[in-house]
Amino acid sequence: MNNLGTDVVVAGAGPTGLMLAHELALAGVDVVVLERLPERTGLSKALNLQPRTAEMLELRGLLHGAEERSFTTVQDGHFAMIPVGYDGWDTRFPFQLGIPQAQVEAYLEEQLATQGTKVLRGAEVIDFVQDKDSVSVRYRTNGGETRLRAKFLVGCDGGRSVVRKGLDVDFPGVNGEGFGMVADVLFDKIPDGAQKQWRTMRNVGGATGDTTFKGLIPLGEPGLYRFVYGDRASRPADIRSAVSHDEVRRALLESYGDSATVSEIRWASQFSDAARQAEHYRVGRVLLAGDAAHIHFPAGGQGLNLGVQDAMNLGWKLAATVRGWAGDDLLDTYEAERHPVGAQVLHNVAAQTGLIPRSHESRALRAVFADLAALPEVSRHLSGMVSGLGIRYATYGTSHPALGSRLTDQDVATEAGPLRPSTLFHNGDFVLLTTSPAHTDAARAQARSPRLTTQLVTSLPWPSTDAVLYRPDGYACWVTPTPTR
Ligand SMILES: Cc1cc2nc3c(=O)[nH]c(=O)nc-3n(C[C@H](O)[C@H](O)[C@H](O)COP(=O)(O)OP(=O)(O)OC[C@H]3O[C@@H](n4cnc5c(N)ncnc54)[C@H](O)[C@@H]3O)c2cc1C
Repeated sequence: MNNLGTDVVVAGAGPTGLMLAHELALAGVDVVVLERLPERTGLSKALNLQPRTAEMLELRGLLHGAEERSFTTVQDGHFAMIPVGYDGWDTRFPFQLGIPQAQVEAYLEEQLATQGTKVLRGAEVIDFVQDKDSVSVRYRTNGGETRLRAKFLVGCDGGRSVVRKGLDVDFPGVNGEGFGMVADVLFDKIPDGAQKQWRTMRNVGGATGDTTFKGLIPLGEPGLYRFVYGDRASRPADIRSAVSHDEVRRALLESYGDSATVSEIRWASQFSDAARQAEHYRVGRVLLAGDAAHIHFPAGGQGLNLGVQDAMNLGWKLAATVRGWAGDDLLDTYEAERHPVGAQVLHNVAAQTGLIPRSHESRALRAVFADLAALPEVSRHLSGMVSGLGIRYATYGTSHPALGSRLTDQDVATEAGPLRPSTLFHNGDFVLLTTSPAHTDAARAQARSPRLTTQLVTSLPWPSTDAVLYRPDGYACWVTPTPTR
């Protein structure tokens, strides 16, 4: 490793950092995860995995374990709390998996440990210095300060990222005007009208006043609910301050009247509606992913999912660079592909918050929008945006419908019978589905990686297509014959 302590330092063991470390370890890259907190908090901001995240976990054989830790499946998504379905996306997972963020983190950390990678806890990144060959990361533990040299550093250290600040990249956006509050509340008597199981986004909540909104999501344990409350037009003086139980009780009373009685408030927190995105995701040997690269109001349940998908996009590219299979041009496609996806999420979140009614006119606008969202094509468009299913990378052009598109994981025909292609991705290889072994060399040249799994198929679902090559994150990057238009 040439006097380096490790190949890659990942700052932060949230869902993004853990997923990234998993991908790197899978590719045989030496990775050290530095996490400021001495132990996991066990608290959950996010509660869901979107269909595209489920598909990606399935590519690694990890979905089953996540399902075991989930408490429900939700049959639809939503746009500004207006339900939208997943019809037309050709996915095996047309639902959101209800799973607390803490469970996602615990599960990913377990998986990482089975790969021999441990999270170094109580290790806070302070700063770093990079040159053309390496990056030196300074971190603090209760034993003092240490320096670790690596080929790359990835900041997965959340919205207040020290790594992003150290890079001095712009983080443009808006401060927002309002706030939201979440609390996990155990009721003795649940509020009138609250659903008992979270199966749909219908009846979860909605607007309460001109600028206020509320929601109640059952968390699986009898009487336990995630209470969401917010005001788009008024923000507490200190958005980082702790939320008192009295404030939660007041917000509950305002939202649901005195029909409910509370047994316990397990935790409460507040969040801002600021929206910002780092101008660059890469500066030399330092990269950003997840909330370190983008923050936004949690409308639609997208943040964790965006971060995990950043990690899937970056993992194989960084591994290929570290292992010398690919050069800078491949690593640069991380920002080229993921920055527009992040920008699109900030855009749709702004649109969703704009649909929270605050006037006679906006209530009318919301009603018209809800009518439109009931149309199948509109519903598909909206759910594609929020779920990640609609992502198509422009990197490879659009001359063939598969290029830049995700593997939909429909069975392919082989001589041995139907085969589910996702099973070929478990070890993080490129995957070639081909009607002839003659295409393997060309595909290997495209992949620029020795890690290629070739699967002979008797046919492919596109006319005049003999072979399609998928990247390790499940997006098609090459087809043959080369389309002529
Ligand atoms: C109220 C609320 C509800 C949400 N609901 C949803 C939802 O339903 N669905 C969804 O998809 N998303 C949701 N989100 C967003 C989601 O929680 C975040 O997008 C997600 O946590 C981002 O993951 P991350 O790993 O990028 O960052 P984080 O989860 O913030 O993890 C960063 C990690 O880095 C560590 N760290 C920070 N600084 C340092 C340092 N200097 N050195 C070392 N370690 C450091 C932190 O301790 C932390 O463990 C919600 C957010 C909020 C606030």
